[in-house]
Amino acid sequence: MSMNKRKKIAVWKPKNLVVERPKKIETEKRVENKKEYDHKWRAYSIAYRKSNPFCVECLKEGIYNSDNIHVDHIIPITENPELKYEESNHQSLCV
Ligand SMILES: [Zn+2]
Repeated sequence: MSMNKRKKIAVWKPKNLVVERPKKIETEKRVENKKEYDHKWRAYSIAYRKSNPFCVECLKEGIYNSDNIHVDHIIPITENPELKYEESNHQSLCV
């Protein structure tokens, strides 16, 4: 076995390298069910956030927060899929 030899000559480990990765879109992370978030929804979501740019929960605290806003379903679409595009069932929330 030559494993030990190899370890000794490894001066720096790949771990220490700073790898620059292309930034992924943040919203992708919080998408739990990607199938539900299709192209149509994304377009709708962008439009909704333009007219409702602030997190409703933060607004209750008097804070105008427009960072990391996503469109939340008040009644989850898992409970009622018909309400997916029902505007009255939507609210802007931060993460
Ligand atoms: Zn908030």
